[in-house]
Amino acid sequence: MDEVLSAARSTHWSRLNDRTLCDSCLGRLFGKIGHGYTNEARGRSIRRETGLQEGPCWLCVGLTARYTDLADLVVRKLEPWEFDSFAIGSKIDPEIAAREEVLWSDLGAAGPEPLKAEVNREVGKVVSDRLRKEPDLTHPEIVAVIDPAFDHVDVQVNPLYLRGRYRKLVRGMPQTRWPCRRCMGKGCDRCGGTGKMYPTSVEEVIAAEVMRESGGRAHALHGMGREDVDARMLGRGRPFILEVKEPHRRHLDLPGAVARINASGIVEVDALVPATAGEVVPLKEDRAAKTYRIALRMAPPVEEAKLKSTLLALVLEPIAQRTPERVVHRRADTIRHRRVLSADVRGVEGDRVELRVTAEAGTYVKEWVHGDGGRTRPSLAERLGAACEVLELDVLDVHDG
Ligand SMILES: [Zn+2]
Ligand SMILES: [Zn+2]
Repeated sequence: MDEVLSAARSTHWSRLNDRTLCDSCLGRLFGKIGHGYTNEARGRSIRRETGLQEGPCWLCVGLTARYTDLADLVVRKLEPWEFDSFAIGSKIDPEIAAREEVLWSDLGAAGPEPLKAEVNREVGKVVSDRLRKEPDLTHPEIVAVIDPAFDHVDVQVNPLYLRGRYRKLVRGMPQTRWPCRRCMGKGCDRCGGTGKMYPTSVEEVIAAEVMRESGGRAHALHGMGREDVDARMLGRGRPFILEVKEPHRRHLDLPGAVARINASGIVEVDALVPATAGEVVPLKEDRAAKTYRIALRMAPPVEEAKLKSTLLALVLEPIAQRTPERVVHRRADTIRHRRVLSADVRGVEGDRVELRVTAEAGTYVKEWVHGDGGRTRPSLAERLGAACEVLELDVLDVHDG
């Protein structure tokens, strides 16, 4: 406290004129000096030392005496939500903030702390005691923003994130909910009133179980890339993070949810593990290579030996891919450069061939097979001198780190 008192002694208190301050507002003028004291305790010591007179607080007009009441208000507002960590925010009346600035400059305050910081901390202490939960300023699960002028508390509930790998066992299902193109989700004749292009999606199957458990308001699925609607996702599955917005509950029976998802028969997940917001962008940006099973038909059929030598020559050869015909209506018409990392023949029967192909992230694999009318070069079809029609495509592995 010595540091605080010595700073107080060299302050020009006469410049306060007839303005009186409460202990907290007095101590807060030195709030960044000395550790381990409340501003109120600083203020009490300064008043003893300087003999400054007491009176109604010109600055906060009684706000610093209301922390317990405000904390009670916060506790009531947080009741419907389950959380382990929280933060307090506040809206300070602009007139109070303006008076604070004036006071700092009039007195030449040495290490003042803004009222807002004190409100957030002191209310946070009381809430923490009441709820036996820790404040967490960097990654709070829930934030209560107090508006003391109106005794109002806004609650901001941060999302719950769950991570896993999914397998998609059927064709004809998108990764995420796909709104109907005609009605944009409102419901029309084309979509049978569902507002969707497809009855369900990987996201909806996974989210249904988690939403039931968490009581969330909405959800989003962030995948490490996505497979075509008509491709299955097999093997170890594709990494994803499910984001649940405004969950009422966070301690979920995750193994139970996994078991129910896996009982769907169309989507399986290996696990659901708690994740953080910070993991979403790295997951989405991961440039993982993928391994595919490709079933195709050749016209005319090509001998196996020629097929093998052609594939061998194509491995690691730079491919230039103009945005495919099938997606150019929704993506920019540009040219991508990718490579196929390995390609093997797994079976030949007449005009039918099964391949295993590993390609760099972002390769349009179907187009690499059939050539897309010359938009992808080189292609297997071009090199074989035969039309190649992709009959089935499955993703067998996502080679993430
Ligand atoms: Zn005050
Ligand atoms: Zn529709």
